[in-house]
Formats: sequence, structure tokens, C-alpha cells
Amino acid sequence: MFRATNNIVLATALIGSLPRPHWFTESLGTRSFMQAMVDSRYREQYTDTVAVYVKDQEAAGLDILTDGDAHFDAEVGGQSWTSYPPIHMDGFSKGTPKPAVIRTGAVAFPMGHILHDYLEARVMPQIVGPIGPGDLHYAAMWKTAQRMTTRPVKFGTITPEILAVACDDVYYKDPLERLAALSSAINTELHELADAGCTVIQLEEPQIHMTPVRGPLFGKLGMKELVSVFDATVRGLRAKTEVWCHTCWGNPSQQRMFREIQSYKPALEYLNEVDADVLTFESCSSHRMDLEAIGKQITKKKIAIGVIDHHSLQVERPDEVADHIRQALKHIPAERLIITSDCGMGREGMSRRHARYKMISLVLGTNIVRQELGLPVAECLAADERYSLVKRS
Ligand SMILES: [Zn+2]
Repeated sequence: MFRATNNIVLATALIGSLPRPHWFTESLGTRSFMQAMVDSRYREQYTDTVAVYVKDQEAAGLDILTDGDAHFDAEVGGQSWTSYPPIHMDGFSKGTPKPAVIRTGAVAFPMGHILHDYLEARVMPQIVGPIGPGDLHYAAMWKTAQRMTTRPVKFGTITPEILAVACDDVYYKDPLERLAALSSAINTELHELADAGCTVIQLEEPQIHMTPVRGPLFGKLGMKELVSVFDATVRGLRAKTEVWCHTCWGNPSQQRMFREIQSYKPALEYLNEVDADVLTFESCSSHRMDLEAIGKQITKKKIAIGVIDHHSLQVERPDEVADHIRQALKHIPAERLIITSDCGMGREGMSRRHARYKMISLVLGTNIVRQELGLPVAECLAADERYSLVKRS
């Protein structure tokens, strides 16, 4: 159900992660979040980080905020997105994690490619017993951010199929059993998060759109089956909260994962069926190529279009953002359009200032179109000339 974007036309949001402050030197490591929050130094650095993320997004004027994925450690290529759940869920080995075997079918990055480091950084615990949510503590993290702002804070998580591919497993006989167990555990955790009051939950990267590129998951699961995996992971959630399904073409180390720009077209009819309120699409870095097809085929949900490129340090100008939104509006009605970044900006390589000015541009560009449509504009303190320190003649 729409609990965060209801009553907002052209709502604005980031996808999730933000660049880590250089002074956030503490790491969560293998500690649980609640345990680390007992450590006064970690607690101070973590909460201060979330506070600056929240403040930067508010000053930019975003409608829906994130906690910047502040619980992720500074791992190579943003590997924490994948490694956080295995390190903290039940069913995984404790102690020293081991390098995972990279499965056939994963995108191949040869030695000498920057993302080869990302593969080397896949050092994670093995599955050795029945999987459960364990110490994911998503509700506690969300509360830590939500108590700093009255705007809705979106909380995101990786999808089970990525974990099922990434982790070594000596317990489940079949990868589909492993996948079902991960999906069920994440569902349990997300219900706790929704029950805690989180008004918008995001599932990050179901592999539906990747299937035409990479082939069926485990050689068995096509797009239709992956829709069922998504639906099982969010089962029951939409009765409680707003569910977003985020898709993009990758962002480790802020890199593109494919040489050619990929199209969503073969996957759109399947994505239209997922049990979500909002679908997000990368559009800026794919040069808006799928806007028409997305508008035609995604008929059952709100559509979030990425107008900010997470791969590039070049800050998009507000007029470019406005032009992108106008083009999207030719195919998607304003009532069903949400404006976002393509993906998270915090997986290594971008500075906080780049991310800050990208989010300001996102709001200023949206405001241009809001004005044209006679809609209320968002206050953007970060671009208010009254507070400029520059003396002009
Ligand atoms: Zn993404």
C-alpha cells in the first residue's frame, strides 16, 4: 500500500547508499548492530553519519530519505551490501570467513579489471545450518534513522537470489532449497521492520532483468520463476507498508558491470507482475532508452525513474534532470512517476560532495517540472541564495 508516496506527485528519493564520511573509521565487522551500538565510539560515529545523511537529504529537499546504508563497512567495491546478511544471519559459519567460490554464470571480471578486486573481496561465511534472520537488526537501524526526521525513511535490503549465488553452502542439498530458506528468512525480517512502523521497504536487485543477459539462475529459474521468488520474499508486506522493487545494471565501485548498455525491454512484462507498489529503473546512465517501453508495459504500479547517474562524477544539471522528467512524462502519468537516482552512490569512488550536489540537482530539476505543472515545489535550503557565502558585486 502507498504509505510514503501517497499524496505526493513526482516524489523524490535516492535509491540507498551514500558515500561514507572519512571520519567514520569504526567498523561493524562481525558484531551485531545492537552489540556495536554499545561501543560508544561506534555508536557516536554511526549515529553522526546517519544524522549527516538525513540532514543532507532534507536540505536538498528530498521527500523520502534513506539512512545511506550506514551499517555497511568500507569494504572493497561496496561488498558489504552482499556480505552483511551472511555475516549476521543464522545458519552461517562463525569465525573467520573464507573466500567464496565464484560460480559459473556470474559476470566474469578477469585479473586486471577493477571488479576483479570485488570478486576477491567476496570473503564470506559458509552456510552450515538452517538459515534464519539471526542478527540482521533491520528494524533497529531503521528506527535509528527515523527518529531523526519526520520524513519517511526507506529501508532497503539485498534480494535472496543474489545471496544464494554468492554464498558457499555445505548444508542445503539443492540451490533452490537454499534460495527458499534465504527468501523466507528475509521475509520474516522485513515483517518485523514493517511492524516497527517502516513505511517504505525496498528489495534491491531481483535478477529478473538480468536473466535475458546471463541466462536462467542456477540453470533453472527463468524470469517467471524469479517473479515468484520476489513475491515469496515480500509475501504479506504490502498489506502493511509500501514495497519498492529496485532494479539497475550494477554499481560496485560505481562501475558499469556490462560493456554495452542493457535494455529492460525483455523483462518488462515480468517486472509488471512483481508484488510491489513501485518499480525503480536506471534511466540516466542508460540514456533514457527504455522510457517509452517502460511507460507502455508497466501499468500496474508507480514507476521510479533514475535521473542521476551513480557511475559518473559529473553532476547532472537541474535543466538536464527537468528535460529527462519531461521525456518520462510523455509515457508515464505524473501521478505514477517518482524521481530517483539510478542506484546507490556509496559503493566506493564518489565523494560526499558529489553525492550531495547530485541530490540537490535531482530536487531542483524536479522543481522546474513541478512549477510547469502547477504543483507545489520542494524547499531546497541547499540552493537558497540567501545563504550563499559568496560576495557578489
Ligand atoms: Zn542498484
